[in-house]
Amino acid sequence: MSLSEEQRMMRESCRAFVDDVVTPFIRGDWKREWDMNPGSRLPDSILEGADKIGIRTLAVPEEFGGVELDKESEVQTFALIAEEIARGDSGLADKLVQNWKVSVLLRTFAPRHLQEKWFKRLVEDPQFLLAHCLTEPRGASDRWLPYNVPEAAMQTRAVKDGNEWVINGRKQFISNGYDAGLYVVYANTNPKVGMLQGTSSFLVPRDTPGLTVARCNETMGCRFMNNGELVFEDMRVPEDHLLVEGEALAQAGVYFRPGKIIQAAKNLGVGVACFERTAEYVQNYVQGGRILIKHQAVALRIGDMATRIAAVRALLEQASRAVDDKAADADVLCNMAKVYASEEIMKVAQHALELHGGNGVMLDFGIEKLFRDAAIFLHMDATVDISKMKIVKWLFPETAGKYAGPE
Ligand SMILES: Cc1cc2nc3c(=O)[nH]c(=O)nc-3n(C[C@H](O)[C@H](O)[C@H](O)COP(=O)(O)OP(=O)(O)OC[C@H]3O[C@@H](n4cnc5c(N)ncnc54)[C@H](O)[C@@H]3O)c2cc1C
Repeated sequence: MSLSEEQRMMRESCRAFVDDVVTPFIRGDWKREWDMNPGSRLPDSILEGADKIGIRTLAVPEEFGGVELDKESEVQTFALIAEEIARGDSGLADKLVQNWKVSVLLRTFAPRHLQEKWFKRLVEDPQFLLAHCLTEPRGASDRWLPYNVPEAAMQTRAVKDGNEWVINGRKQFISNGYDAGLYVVYANTNPKVGMLQGTSSFLVPRDTPGLTVARCNETMGCRFMNNGELVFEDMRVPEDHLLVEGEALAQAGVYFRPGKIIQAAKNLGVGVACFERTAEYVQNYVQGGRILIKHQAVALRIGDMATRIAAVRALLEQASRAVDDKAADADVLCNMAKVYASEEIMKVAQHALELHGGNGVMLDFGIEKLFRDAAIFLHMDATVDISKMKIVKWLFPETAGKYAGPE
């Protein structure tokens, strides 16, 4: 892909940030990600560094002090940057990309005075994070498909009371859920209709009475992003905090499409890190009197890793261009890029783990971390199987597309 001047500069500054700041931090102390105090895992200086190179407030309009990218290639640039940051650390990338994705929602759906208020907070405070709350204990896959019948409705409910909405429910597995300052929450507002007609989205500031951050989920990978669980008990938000009424899921493509691209790109970055570390290792480590790469079985695996990475990148580029161009097949390409990136990079990470022998599974060596970071992506933004079902649903809307309800 040929890069614009903006993309080239962004990529260079991200690469320098990762090589000079992120990687030395990650490699310097492998125990840090296992700190059982989630708030002290990542030092503030890392997000401050991300802020300095202008990648924290991407998608925030310039008039609110953000770093606005060229709209013609915005999603392609998101992908480039997400890959570069994840090459250093996938959890850090996750922390940042949630801000970009939710900012897209805010700039599209939030009333202007709330954009002013919250974009200002985001721009001013390098530690400020955003989160997107869809998943519930009793269902996430249903929401991705979705089963558009009342029985599959979200269990989080929002009811209008005067000029406020009262929200009750629970959201789990939320990226940045533990430490975000502002949440976008999805809730059912009409139990009589399907999810695509009866789900609304709301802005919920962290200090809203009735909101409890119940826990930080201790994940196997991406540990520098604090994934959280939230409980809402008679939580009241003013009526202007309603973002989209009824059709919030139907309109969420504005978030989901770039979201899937960014997530897939992030996983590609993990694959690139696997490849770089392994390529260095096999060209220096000697077994049987010669460096590993001169053993043909090892060389074959390196070729396999490189090929899978190139194929993921090619599909990702096609899909991200389709989103920027608003192409008719953008949705299906996003699902393809997401699922392909998750499966292929998992295999790349497995090669890395195996080619490092015993070192591959040693916590202080850093390769098993990449394997864990790749594994976690199988479940993010829809599971592998659900993503494939969405692809088939798009290809055959009249048959496979009809999962539930009468034929
Ligand atoms: C690290 C991480 C970060 C996340 N971040 C967020 C976030 O920021 N916001 C958010 O809202 N969510 C988030 N999620 C949730 C994520 O989207 C869900 O975990 C994912 O969609 C799967 O849902 P589930 O865990 O409820 O699995 P389930 O839906 O319970 O699925 C369990 C298994 O059953 C299969 N399955 C379920 N239904 C069907 C079906 N109808 N047909 C065939 N197979 C089916 C699935 O493929 C899976 O294998 C995150 C998850 C992780 C792991």
